[in-house]
Amino acid sequence: MATDPYHQIKALHDPLVHEVLAHDDWSPWARKRLQEAAEHLLEVMLALAGPECRHCGVNVNLEATGRPRSYCSDACRQAAYRSRLTQRL
Ligand SMILES: [Zn+2]
Repeated sequence: MATDPYHQIKALHDPLVHEVLAHDDWSPWARKRLQEAAEHLLEVMLALAGPECRHCGVNVNLEATGRPRSYCSDACRQAAYRSRLTQRL
């Protein structure tokens, strides 16, 4: 079993999101907003867990605004998002 913060957080986050979205009574709008909120929540939690890029492990510096970042680049963000979608199959 993975013990790093990334996989611990995902192990809590993914089943919860999956369970919520499994309900049929969400409107398309609500479902879209829930998915967006879940993605954002995951990014924030992962950013709080550590300063490394969640995809390649490169150290990620905070932006000038102090906004937490989960990935070193948009490319890594996209790659990680695609891999998450694939893992849910
Ligand atoms: Zn990266």
